[in-house]
Amino acid sequence: MTTTSATTAAIAVEEHALAHNYHPLSVVVATAEGAWVTDVDGKRYLDCLAAYSAVNFGHSNPRLIAAAKAQLDRVTLTSRAFHNDQLGPFADALATLLGKEMVLPMNTGAEAVESAIKVARAWGYRVKGVPEGRAKIIVMDGNFHGRTTTIISFSNDPEARADFGPYTPGFTSVPYGDIDAVAAAIDDDTVAVLVEPIQGEAGVVVPPAEFLPALRALATDRRVLMIADEIQSGLGRTGSTVSCDLVGVVPDLYLLGKALGGGIVPVSAVVGDASVLGVLRPGEHGSTFGGNPLAAAVGLEVVSMLSTGEFQERASVLGAHLRSSLEGLIGSGVVEVRGAGLWAGIDIDPALASGRAVCEALMERGVLAKDTHGSTIRLAPPLVVTAEELDWAVEQLRAVLASF
Ligand SMILES: *Cc1c(COP(=O)(O)O)cnc(C)c1O
Repeated sequence: MTTTSATTAAIAVEEHALAHNYHPLSVVVATAEGAWVTDVDGKRYLDCLAAYSAVNFGHSNPRLIAAAKAQLDRVTLTSRAFHNDQLGPFADALATLLGKEMVLPMNTGAEAVESAIKVARAWGYRVKGVPEGRAKIIVMDGNFHGRTTTIISFSNDPEARADFGPYTPGFTSVPYGDIDAVAAAIDDDTVAVLVEPIQGEAGVVVPPAEFLPALRALATDRRVLMIADEIQSGLGRTGSTVSCDLVGVVPDLYLLGKALGGGIVPVSAVVGDASVLGVLRPGEHGSTFGGNPLAAAVGLEVVSMLSTGEFQERASVLGAHLRSSLEGLIGSGVVEVRGAGLWAGIDIDPALASGRAVCEALMERGVLAKDTHGSTIRLAPPLVVTAEELDWAVEQLRAVLASF
């Protein structure tokens, strides 16, 4: 790989004292605006990852930066020991956006998942009447919900799990999209089903169209909470506010993160009705930074931007455009294309190249993307990208595939 001196030097500095838990591409970003980032050597790249959808509204989005700057000059952190004047408006707006009653604010996506697990268990014991210590949660094979010890306990990915046990009990994993398997796994102790409406890290895997509606009906019928992890799929990415909207499904709990912080601060949330989220009592759960006024000010602006439907519409229209250009690559090195809205999983012919090799070659041509597993790459550009930029990115992919 040819890298210029500023890039090489910056990578050497970064690698000096940094734990090796990532394997980044050899690009060192210095600045970014909209859908583009610029590296330390001044080379520009189209960002087709958008920080795993945390930057849905584009880098340095003027509205979000203005909201953050205004709040920086007022107050940034109070802890929940006191009230702050940003959190209430944020919670109200977010609950309204999703048609729910209550919001539990946290910081990272993994914390939202952990919070929902605690809420579901407490709901199971206090409302459903599950015997103490027996609560069970059903999850899906191929899931990605974060990196904490409990969350990796129900991952099927050996890389995520190996050597990190002992594992938290209380989870049963079933094949993704298999409603009969979910039905068979539910028993009297089951409190919840935790599902990604579209599996992101697994390679942008969309379940059969009838799966989520059937899961909703099954959960209601068997008195089990449906928890939708929309941390990557939500907030405009798939052409709707949350991807559950695409199939007309309303879960009991939505988990949000990533784009909720506008690419500026970590903001996550569990959103649901009082009949579920209301089980938490003071002192049972919390976070020093969760619901801080800076996060709430940015989150409020994110919600306000989503309330017009403009970003959802962009993702839908541009997504259809991207999808049809990508389908034109099938047979020319691409085996399959999946996705929804501005979110695509592209299976590269494994005989041709690994996903990593394709992403490295794309980087040389000024497109940043990320492989998921094996020979799958994912495209998730900021929703402010243009059709022309998408066409250009697909042309770079065509050229890369032709070069192998
Ligand atoms: C990224 C992600 C998480 C974890 O979020 P973090 O902020 O990295 O902790 C959880 N669920 C899904 C679906 C994700 O994509």
